[in-house]
Amino acid sequence: VAVVVLRETAAGERRVALTPDVVKKLKARGADVLAEAGAGESAYFSDAALDATQVLDRAGALARADVLLRVQPPDPDEIAGLKAGAVVIAHLQPHRDPERVKALRDRKITAFAMELLPRTTRAQAMDVLSSQAAVAGYKAVLIAAEAAPKFFPMLTTAAGTIRPSKVLVVGAGVAGLQAIATARRLGAQVEGFDVRPETREQIESLGAKFLDLGVSAAGSGGYARELTAEERERQQQALADHLKGIDVVVTTAAVPGRQAPRIVSAAMVAGMKAGAVIVDIAAESGGNCELTEAGRTVVSPNGVSIIGTVNLPASAPIHASEMYARNLYNFLELSLNDGALTLNWDDELIAKTCLTHDGRILHEPTRQLIE
Ligand code: NAD
Repeated sequence: VAVVVLRETAAGERRVALTPDVVKKLKARGADVLAEAGAGESAYFSDAALDATQVLDRAGALARADVLLRVQPPDPDEIAGLKAGAVVIAHLQPHRDPERVKALRDRKITAFAMELLPRTTRAQAMDVLSSQAAVAGYKAVLIAAEAAPKFFPMLTTAAGTIRPSKVLVVGAGVAGLQAIATARRLGAQVEGFDVRPETREQIESLGAKFLDLGVSAAGSGGYARELTAEERERQQQALADHLKGIDVVVTTAAVPGRQAPRIVSAAMVAGMKAGAVIVDIAAESGGNCELTEAGRTVVSPNGVSIIGTVNLPASAPIHASEMYARNLYNFLELSLNDGALTLNWDDELIAKTCLTHDGRILHEPTRQLIE
C-alpha cells in the first residue's frame, strides 16, 4: 500500500500528517511512504529526517496514493488527482463544506473524517480532537500570560508582594483541563467551570477550584448538551458577578455540531477590570464571548483585550504533528495487514469515522444535509 503525505496548503497551517517515527512504523508494516518534497518543512521535519520511501512532486505523489494523509481537508484539485477508491484520512469538517463532501463522494474516495471518530476508550490513541485540543489549551494560556499586564505567580520581593493573577477557565474538556494545568504551572490562582458535573473532580485534581454556577447539563457520549434558556440565564447572572474579580479568562466551551455557546456577554466584559484578558479558543466556531472576532484582538472600551485565536495547534507544529501523526497511525493500523489495506466495516471505529465510500455518503447527518 502506498501512503502519501503532502505539504499542507491552508494559510497558517504548519503541521504535517506524518513524522519520522511514524514513517518508520509504516515502513516496518510493509507500507511504501511517498512524501511530497518539503512536506514536513514547516514543522521542521526535513525530507531527510522524514526518510520516506520516495520523495515526489505533488501530482506524482497524489496519483499513486492508496492512502492520503492530511491535517486539513484536501483541496479540490487534490481530490480530482486521486484515483477512485483511494483512502483519505484527515480533518474533513463535513458540515462546513458540502461541496468537498460531494467531490469525495463522486470520486468514489473512501474518506475518513477524524472528527467523527467515536470517543470510546479504545479510540483514545486515535483521537485527534483530544491531542490537538491539548495543544490549544496550553498555547492559549501562554498567549494570555504574554498579553496580560500582570504576573501570573505570586512574588515576594524587596519591592513588596505581588498577588497572583486570577485565571478562570470556561469549559473543562481536554483543552480546558490543559489550560488549567498550564496556568497552575505558571503560578496563577486558577478556577474552572463546566456544565458537566464530572469535571469538578478533574478540575480539583489539577489543584484548581471548581466554580459552581449552579448549572448541570451533561449530554450524551460524554459531551455537554445545549443549555435551556432558564439555565443559561442562571449561569449568566452568577458569572457576571464573578468575572469582576478575574484577571484572565480562557474560554474553551463547545457543543458538538453547534455554534460555540455564548457565555461571556458584552455587558459582562464591561464589568471586568481594565487590563483583563480573554483568550477565546472557540473563536473559529463563533466564540464563547460576544465580542470575539476570529483571528483578531478586540479591546473593549473599558480596556479588556479579547483575543480570538485561530488554529492554535499549528503554533506548536512539532509536537502537534507528532501527536496527530501517531493518532493517524493508530487508526490506520486497524486496517494494515502485511503491507495491504483491508477495511473491516464491522469495526465501529472504521464504520462511524467513514464519511464517504464507494460513491455514497455514509455519515447520516451529513447525508441529510447534502442529499
Ligand atoms: P468539547 O470541545 O466538545 O467541549 C469543551 C468543553 O465545553 C466540554 O467539557 C463541555 O462540557 C464544555 N461546555 C459546553 N457548553 C458549556 C457551557 N455552556 N458552559 C460551560 N462549559 C460548557 O469537549 P472535548 O474536550 O472534546 O471533550 C469533552 C469530554 O469528552 C472530555 O472531557 C471527556 O470526558 C470526553 N472525551 C472522551 C474521550 C475518549 O474516551 N476517547 C476522548 C475525548 C473526550
